[in-house]
Amino acid sequence: MVAALPAQITVFERGWLSSNNVLLTGSHEAVLVDSGYCTHGAQTVALVEDALQRRPLDRIVNTHLHSDHCGGNAQLKQRYPALSISVPYTQLADVQAWREDVLTYQATGQQCPPFQAHDGLRPGDMVEMGDLTWLVVGGAGHDPDEVLFFEKTNGILISADALWQHGYGVVFPELDGAGGFADVAATLDVIESLAPKIVIPGHGPVFVDVEEALARARRRLHQQRSDPQSHAWHALKVLLKFKLLEQGRMERSSLLKWALCMPHGRGLSQRYFASEPSAALVTRALESLIRSGAARRSGAWIEDVS
Ligand SMILES: [Zn+2]
Repeated sequence: MVAALPAQITVFERGWLSSNNVLLTGSHEAVLVDSGYCTHGAQTVALVEDALQRRPLDRIVNTHLHSDHCGGNAQLKQRYPALSISVPYTQLADVQAWREDVLTYQATGQQCPPFQAHDGLRPGDMVEMGDLTWLVVGGAGHDPDEVLFFEKTNGILISADALWQHGYGVVFPELDGAGGFADVAATLDVIESLAPKIVIPGHGPVFVDVEEALARARRRLHQQRSDPQSHAWHALKVLLKFKLLEQGRMERSSLLKWALCMPHGRGLSQRYFASEPSAALVTRALESLIRSGAARRSGAWIEDVS
């Protein structure tokens, strides 16, 4: 079923390398929620330009600062120099100082061109976007600093990576041993209490079967909590696949070397697969991706299959 969104909301459904982007055109301000991955920056700028025509983009609002959600910020700022950027308030200082270690780009081995943020979003704040009033909702779990946006009149939730039609994003704090499953559960409860009618997720299509999506997410969470190693295994494959999406193809040896150097890869290997040498683990994960059809081998190269 195609969900009916107000005319001033346009969703650019992207893919997995770039998050979806939500363009909200109000009478005074045009706002973009999330900006995709940096290698898709030119495409993101073109999508925004095409939708806004001669009108400028005034503001970017980031649900969280994973590279696939804010990687287009710098390029959009170049195109629209007057635009301001809002980020979760807990990360404002880290953005201003551009601490790549804290901002996850080192941990995931991903790229994000530096940008400057202008203000912070706090859960409980009300923000105007597209002539609509949105409640900022804390969405910890996948990312401890993530925020969601809820518009009560139409029942619209911008859910980022806290809830997709089929699941939610990797629970990264779990990989570090910081814990995140309890936060995922709490965030799903909050979403249920808001009773959204339409959900615009960070990846995948807009959906309206919210109860079913919540039930699927809770089943996944239950499975991950009962078998945290399977979650870590899934995370390793997601990180490898993301790298392949970014590069298109890589020499097998370079890809394995990258995976072994990536801090999240090292951390989850030590924490969840202590009895298996890291090199064997990442090789096994890559073979699994190939078997499932997400990648293919071509001589010394591994190619992405999308
Ligand atoms: Zn994310």
